[in-house]
Amino acid sequence: ETYVASKVKTCEAIGFKSTMVRMEETITEAELVAAIENLNNDADVDGILVQLPLPKQINEERIISLIHPDKDVDGFHPVSVGKLVQGLPTFIPATPYGIMLMLEHYKIETSGKHAVVIGRSNIVGRPMSILLSQNTYPGNCTVTVCHSRTNNLKEICLQADIIVAALGKPGFLKADMVKEGAVVIDVGITRVEDATKKSGFAIKGDVDFDNVAPKCSYITPVPGGVGLMTIGALMMNTYNAATKKD
Ligand code: NAD
Repeated sequence: ETYVASKVKTCEAIGFKSTMVRMEETITEAELVAAIENLNNDADVDGILVQLPLPKQINEERIISLIHPDKDVDGFHPVSVGKLVQGLPTFIPATPYGIMLMLEHYKIETSGKHAVVIGRSNIVGRPMSILLSQNTYPGNCTVTVCHSRTNNLKEICLQADIIVAALGKPGFLKADMVKEGAVVIDVGITRVEDATKKSGFAIKGDVDFDNVAPKCSYITPVPGGVGLMTIGALMMNTYNAATKKD
C-alpha cells in the first residue's frame, strides 16, 4: 500500500497521468488477463505496473509475461530480463536501476571492486548482480551473489568493497560483517512494531545502520535511501516508455 501510494503521488507531482486499478483479492486469472489486455491495447497507457505479490489463484509468471514488453516499466517481463542479461537497452527493474543511478551520482568507484549482493530475487538481487558485473559504469565489479543457502556469509561480506543487502531481515548486516571503508546499500524494507511511533510500527532496513555506518565510506539510510531511488527509477522507465516510441 505504501509503495503503491507513493507511485501515485510521485506521478502526480511530476505531471504523469496515473490510474490505480484496484482489484478484489478474489479476482480470477481470466479477469486479470482481460484487464491487462485492455491496458496493452490502450494507446493512452505508456506503462503498466502489476503490484506483486498476486493472490494465490493467479499465475504470476503468466501475468508478467502478458504485459506488452514496450509497456513493461517494471522490467520483469522475460524479454526485458533477457535484454538486461545481454546488456541491451531495456527497462531495468526499478530498485537495481535506482541503485545504479545512485552509484553514478555519487561517483562511487566500482571497476574491479568486489560487490556482494545478499539476495537473489528476480526483482532485486538477481538483476543487481547482473548490472554490477556488466562492462559499464557503474559496473565492472567482481560480484558474489549470496542467498539463504550461502555458507560463510560473514567471511564473504568482510571481503566486499560494496555490499547490497536485499534479504528482508531487519538489522541483519552487522558491523563485524563489514570492512572499513565499504559502501553499503540497504534495500530492506520491513515493518516492525515500535511502541514509540504514533503508527505503532517503524520501517527497518537489512543493515544495523547505527553500528555499521561508522565503518562505511558511504551508506544508504532506511527509509529515505533506496526506496526513494526506486520510485525515481520507475518514473525514468515510464518517461522513457512514453518518449522513446517509434
Ligand atoms: P525475497 O524474499 O524475494 O528475496 C530474499 C532473498 O534473500 C532470497 O533470495 C533469499 O535467498 C535471501 N535470503 C534470505 N535469508 C537470507 C539469509 N539469512 N542470508 C542470505 N540470504 C538470505 O525479497 P525481495 O523481494 O528481493 O526483497 C528483499 C527486501 O528488499 C525486502 O525487505 C523488501 O521489502 C525490500 N525491497 C525494497 C525495495 C525498495 O524500493 N527499497 C524494493 C524491493 C524490495
